[in-house]
Amino acid sequence: MNKENQPNVDMDKLVSLCRRRGFIFPSSEIYGGLSSCWDYGPLGVAMKRNIKDAWWRMMVQERDDMVGIDSSILMHPRIWQASGHLEGFSDPLAECKSCHQRWRTDQFEGEHCPECGGELTETQMFNLMFKTFMGPVEEAANIVYLRPETAQGIFVNFQNVVNTTRKKLPFGIAQIGKSFRNEITTGNFIFRSREFEQMEIEFFVKPGTDKEWFNYWLKECLDWYLKLGIRKENLKLRQHMKHELAHYALDCYDIEYLFPMGWAELEGIANRGDFDLSQHAKHSGKSLSYYDDESKEQITPYVIEPSAGVDRAFLAFLCDAYAEEPDKDETRVLLRLHPDLAPIKIAILPLSKKENVARVAKELYAELRRHWMVDYDDAQSIGRRYRRQDEIGTPLCVTVDFQSLEDGQVTVRERDSMNQIRVPINELKATLTAKLAGEDLFTLPPGGKIWKEEKG
Ligand code: ATP
Repeated sequence: MNKENQPNVDMDKLVSLCRRRGFIFPSSEIYGGLSSCWDYGPLGVAMKRNIKDAWWRMMVQERDDMVGIDSSILMHPRIWQASGHLEGFSDPLAECKSCHQRWRTDQFEGEHCPECGGELTETQMFNLMFKTFMGPVEEAANIVYLRPETAQGIFVNFQNVVNTTRKKLPFGIAQIGKSFRNEITTGNFIFRSREFEQMEIEFFVKPGTDKEWFNYWLKECLDWYLKLGIRKENLKLRQHMKHELAHYALDCYDIEYLFPMGWAELEGIANRGDFDLSQHAKHSGKSLSYYDDESKEQITPYVIEPSAGVDRAFLAFLCDAYAEEPDKDETRVLLRLHPDLAPIKIAILPLSKKENVARVAKELYAELRRHWMVDYDDAQSIGRRYRRQDEIGTPLCVTVDFQSLEDGQVTVRERDSMNQIRVPINELKATLTAKLAGEDLFTLPPGGKIWKEEKG
């Protein structure tokens, strides 16, 4: 990993914020933790769902050339023989003879332990798939694997999808789900863990059109991150060199992000040719070809595969959103998350706990939470409450005060600009909807009191 630019935030700050505010906890913490496994807390789970929803919306819902599936994690073991994972899904492993740390020898230069300088054992290939047994008898015949990628569940359903949806080439199948890899070296928080989630597409095209579609998907995938607010200068494309290409790949690019530890892979986009469908046809004995109406021939489609990690996307969105601003004598910490990704969209903050103010605030809370994730907070000063919401990325706060009881208006405050406006309660939902959809409804002079214009 080479550092060209300065990362936006350091990892310790982010890990501490995630833990303090309930985004992410170490797994099995009360038992001392389980290495490289993580639990998403109340805010983390909301944000993770938002990431997956945003992906599904753009990649599946808004396209007519894409369908989704959800295949099982445990699959027939012969799938991993056909895909090449049983033989080839391995990393080079060596152990330090002094400190007994294990290392992936393709991840550093030199021949000694990067930790203590000790001598290393000879490098051996280590298969990354987790094994378990199907049924009560633990014998070789019953071994099954936890999938190391979601892709193979798509390939083995290719014919089912063609038969049931009557999709014509080019079309894609998308899947979001858990994958498992017994990684040798983990770390960098949720960047590399042993259990993680992927968002994958297998996009089937006619051979000969694959290069064009490959370029199309590079752009489409990059656009997804840009649309959700990641800064352009923190993303780059890196083409794999010949020796890096996986056995099946004709071409491959990584989308890299400038993480706190440097540039690293966020998503991979590969041209897999017809490798997977041909292999599964050969190993299963079933035809996985496609009848092309135009040429009147059976063809084996080529495949373009964008493969993204939910957890790495989560980390990248958090890194990019993190900001610190001077705030009187203190520092305002905020997450400038895109409204689609923010775990909480709106916070209702009554300026008094008195019954009549609280009643209006609670009514608003009950109404708005039918549409969005909404928080209600009446503890401590309003300044502190704003800071609490800023730190978790809540785009809009609504305050209810004594004046609201008289004029039927509330104050809406924006996270990034800290601008505020008064909005009639009966216009509130429309204002919040427009604002969350990115409309610049009220860019205000600082401190300005602009009322939403009357319609008509
Ligand atoms: P790396 O080189 O970092 O090990 P990879 O090239 O093996 O990654 P792919 O097999 O291309 O990764 O997987 C596709 C995507 O799945 C990656 O871009 C990443 O976002 C995610 N991913 C892969 N392995 C992990 C992991 N151990 N933890 C979290 N996410 C992962």
